[in-house]
Amino acid sequence: MARPKIDDARDKMYRVRVNDEEEQMLQYVCDRKELKNKSDVFRAALKEAYGMLRMREFDMNENQDSYYEEYAEGISLERIVDCPYCSSKNKIDLVDECDESSYERQMGPETIYEFDTEDNYCKNCGRQFRVSGYISEYPMGAFNFEEINVNPIEGEEEYE
Ligand SMILES: [Zn+2]
Repeated sequence: MARPKIDDARDKMYRVRVNDEEEQMLQYVCDRKELKNKSDVFRAALKEAYGMLRMREFDMNENQDSYYEEYAEGISLERIVDCPYCSSKNKIDLVDECDESSYERQMGPETIYEFDTEDNYCKNCGRQFRVSGYISEYPMGAFNFEEINVNPIEGEEEYE
C-alpha cells in the first residue's frame, strides 16, 4: 500500500537551548494546553508571531493614520510574579513604574520599558520585594521580549 503523500514534510530540524526557568514555562504551557509535544508550543508561537507581524505590516502600510493611534497605549505591563519569600502568586502592574525609551526600527518604534521598584508587598505574607528589569514592545502593540527579576529586599520591614 502506498504511503500517504506529505505535501510539506517537516524535514528541517532545529535544536533550541532552554534554561530551567524556560523548561518550567514550557512544561506549564504543555500541561495547560494539553499538548503532547513540546515542539507544538514552538510551532504555535511561531505561527502567532508570523500572523501578528503580517497583520501589523499590512495595517502599517494600508492604514497608517489609525495604526499609530490604535497602538499608542502600548502593551499591558501587568504580570504575575511569585513572592520571593513564600512563592505566592502576586499580580503587579508596572505601568506607573517605568522609564520609557523608543528607537525607530523597520516596523516603527521599539519601546523599552525599564523598571526597578521596591513598592511591592506580597498579598499573602505581607513582605516587601523588589521587581526590576525591562520589557520590550516591538512592533507597536506587540510583546517582543522581557527580563523580570523578583528579589527579596534585605532589611525590609516585616509585619505580621
Ligand atoms: Zn509572600
